[in-house]
Amino acid sequence: MNKKEIRVRFAPSPTGPLHIGGVRTALYNYLFAKKNNGKFILRIEDTDQTRFVAGAEKYIMESLKWCGIKIDEGINEGGEFGPYKQSERKDIYFQYAQDLIKSGNAYYAFDTPEELEKIRKEYESTKKTFTYDSFVRKTLKNSISLPENEVKKLIDSGVNYVIRFKIPENQELILNDIIRGEIKVNTSTLDDKVLFKSDGMPTYHLANIVDDFLMKISHVIRGEEWLPSLPLHVLLYKAFGWEEKMPEFAHLPLLLKPDGNGKLSKRDGDKLGFPVFPLQWKSPSGEVSSGYRESDYFPEAFINMLVLLGWNPGTEQEIFSLEQLSESFSLERVGKSGSKFDPEKAKWFNHQYLINKSDKELAEMFQPVLIEKHLNFDLNYIEKVCSLIKDRATFINELWEHSYFFFESPKEYDNKVVKKRWKENSPEILNKIIDILNNIKDFNRKNCHSEVISYLEKNEIGLGAALNALRLTLVGSGKGPDLFSIIELLGKEEVVLRINFAIKTLN
Ligand code: GLU
Repeated sequence: MNKKEIRVRFAPSPTGPLHIGGVRTALYNYLFAKKNNGKFILRIEDTDQTRFVAGAEKYIMESLKWCGIKIDEGINEGGEFGPYKQSERKDIYFQYAQDLIKSGNAYYAFDTPEELEKIRKEYESTKKTFTYDSFVRKTLKNSISLPENEVKKLIDSGVNYVIRFKIPENQELILNDIIRGEIKVNTSTLDDKVLFKSDGMPTYHLANIVDDFLMKISHVIRGEEWLPSLPLHVLLYKAFGWEEKMPEFAHLPLLLKPDGNGKLSKRDGDKLGFPVFPLQWKSPSGEVSSGYRESDYFPEAFINMLVLLGWNPGTEQEIFSLEQLSESFSLERVGKSGSKFDPEKAKWFNHQYLINKSDKELAEMFQPVLIEKHLNFDLNYIEKVCSLIKDRATFINELWEHSYFFFESPKEYDNKVVKKRWKENSPEILNKIIDILNNIKDFNRKNCHSEVISYLEKNEIGLGAALNALRLTLVGSGKGPDLFSIIELLGKEEVVLRINFAIKTLN
């Protein structure tokens, strides 16, 4: 049997920045395509002109690029099923809406927004909710309730109308979702959704189904918020006679706030203390929301963190490259329940990626920070610094606070440490240490360590006090990695200079 070609699409509406939940949807689509040698398509669903936000489309594409998600077909990439932006496919949809009218699956509705509002209010006053459905459609102003000649007259006169889907009455629908299994719905619970609007644009539902069909989409993988639309979508496939070619559906569980109370939403912005957007977003009114990129996350770490919010590999493994994910991902291992976003775990992932980078890579990322501070050091030296301190950093922008003393000698000293560690006899001991260090020919960690320690032990000088004072002279405080590694890296000359300067300054 010829296996069906796998084609999936990510279909965002450019109504604002992409939220991390949206990035996860894109990622799962992408991974599913890669895993199955399929195609990943980016389709821009911009038929709701009232919600259009300038810059959003560019933002979406830049986000995917930053994440390493490559698009096979899309507005920039092209492809044989284009155009990939719905506003450029406008003419296609009207014809399909007409087809549904002809087959009796849709109808013209002439009710004005004001008329509908009035009826809605009347319903509310008797504590009922109004839905435009199979029960009330006969009483409203549409091509089902009105005689044919009147309908024609209205259309010819140029009045505004919409086209609504005619939901079949009282049918048991059985829907299938890869993640949720079988779902039963009675069509009488559904309303006659608008398919085509009076502004000449299709609604999301019509455009989405027509495009998924025309673009030969094999699997629709999208957020759980679209599950309530699934019955209508399946009915549309049936009405068009496309049931055989209907894609399979997978509705992804929600991303929840860290406390598990409700969905992580765009509006959470920076309120919860972490970004909800991949990249920083500046709204047209100038409001800025932070992004993972600008917060110094590695895209690989961001993706790795995100993929595990909903999918699990079935093993203990946590660190996955995009390539590994493309091999391992499957929809069968996506859970039904929502995943709590954990900002600490996000940092943990970044730390893992940081310590797994080679010292050379880290040095290359760190060097520009130093150059900006007018500190010119060769890469080899920066590499050695990175190897000593990388365990302590979560982000590249933290390397400096853990390593500045390798690049600048201390000009002042941490008062608390001075009080605690600087004793009356410190200068005497340190002067002796200078002599010892000066006499070491092969100036390395091991030799410095054994010479200094054996001197202190022989003379029964407390190691703690002496070594802490020594650290204070080199670092300016009580922190930093292994003392003798610092000594080796700074080199004899610099170490002696620093000790002498400290003796002068602290006495
Ligand atoms: N345009 C919809 C959105 O913004 C797409 C939903 C779907 O994937 O069907 O999420």
